[in-house]
Amino acid sequence: MKDVAIVGGGLAGLISAIQLADAGLEVVVIEQKEYPFHKVCGEYISNEVVPFLKSINCYPEHLNPVPISHFRLSDVKGQEVRMPLDLGGFGLSRYQLDNYLYQQGLGRGAEGMERTKVRAIEPSAEGFQLELSGGKRMEARLVLGAWGKRSTTDKALEREFIEKRSDYIGVKYHIKASLPHDEVALHNYPGGYCGVVKIEGDCWNMCYLGSKEQLRHYGGIEEMEQNTLAKNPLLKRILQEAEYIHDKPEVINEISFRPKPVVENGVLMAGDAAGLITPLCGNGMAMAIHGGKLLSDHIKLHWPLRKGSRDVLERSYAREWQRLFGNRLWVGRQTQKLFGNAAASGLAVKFLRNVKPAGRYLMQQTHGQPF
Ligand SMILES: Cc1cc2nc3c(=O)[nH]c(=O)nc-3n(C[C@H](O)[C@H](O)[C@H](O)COP(=O)(O)OP(=O)(O)OC[C@H]3O[C@@H](n4cnc5c(N)ncnc54)[C@H](O)[C@@H]3O)c2cc1C
Repeated sequence: MKDVAIVGGGLAGLISAIQLADAGLEVVVIEQKEYPFHKVCGEYISNEVVPFLKSINCYPEHLNPVPISHFRLSDVKGQEVRMPLDLGGFGLSRYQLDNYLYQQGLGRGAEGMERTKVRAIEPSAEGFQLELSGGKRMEARLVLGAWGKRSTTDKALEREFIEKRSDYIGVKYHIKASLPHDEVALHNYPGGYCGVVKIEGDCWNMCYLGSKEQLRHYGGIEEMEQNTLAKNPLLKRILQEAEYIHDKPEVINEISFRPKPVVENGVLMAGDAAGLITPLCGNGMAMAIHGGKLLSDHIKLHWPLRKGSRDVLERSYAREWQRLFGNRLWVGRQTQKLFGNAAASGLAVKFLRNVKPAGRYLMQQTHGQPF
């Protein structure tokens, strides 16, 4: 029996694996894909994670993260504002970052199970029994839910948010283009918004949050992009001039920003499985890293689990998670309403042009402090 089974090897799961393996626990990370792999994500990471990553010797300097010091916002007509970022961040692909953290976890003694999907999680006498793809089973004292936005495990646990449909889709490209190196840009278009940021090598990430309804209406990704993204002249130029690195984009659908319980049926959630912040805040990766740290710190504090300490662990983790992230998620949900809408995004650009402190205030509300 393992001490801890971590379901999902994204940022939240891998940070938990690294910290718990460092503390001497027997940990397994179960990931349905095989590293390295691409993921739908804007790949702009807030600098709030840098002190922590350095403290555990996991800051990936050698992968050449690109320093990002400015933010550009455009409305659906292409009117824009550029402003400095207080804290800033860096651009780095998930292909590189997740693989690097996975190798760090293995190097510190965590076991890795790739190409293995967790299908169900049931309580057992000493903890939990996991049903894996291929008919395999495994037992663990504790299970961490780090499976991201949406998974079969959400269905298996009958989580409430999974019953509600969501219209949001995410599409990601890696492109070569002639664009600024030092900024993360957020371009609105009718029905959605698209982020653009420099990542390692000579590539940029272009990733947008769009609508399933629009995709259905136009009948294909390219047709949708020509009829929606290209309405913003700045995006039109990027779409025309970009050299696409891969044949096809990465696409996900049913992205839900609804609140979720942080602990469900005894499974402790971290990262997007605990709550997904809207991408316009550019901060989900930092929250996943911070959440993985928070969860593993709590487990270390209560380990080994005795009678009653499981309840205390669940309660104190859920409370601290709400304190750290609850407000950010709420502000993100409210701000999201301004985007992808002609009038609201136009007003937002004008307002930020004229009232510079307002932009800073909004960023502070949706971003965390270095930890
Ligand atoms: C369009 C879009 C753009 C974004 N842009 C940014 C950005 O620029 N900056 C930023 O900070 N955040 C951004 N985010 C948010 C960010 O991507 C997430 O918050 C972050 O990836 C969460 O990490 P995680 O570890 O919780 O989940 P993930 O990184 O999604 O990892 C979950 C892992 O679990 C695996 N998995 C799932 N189910 C199972 C299963 N049943 N068994 C085994 N494995 C399983 C998956 O394969 C995956 O590898 C964006 C999100 C979207 C939708």
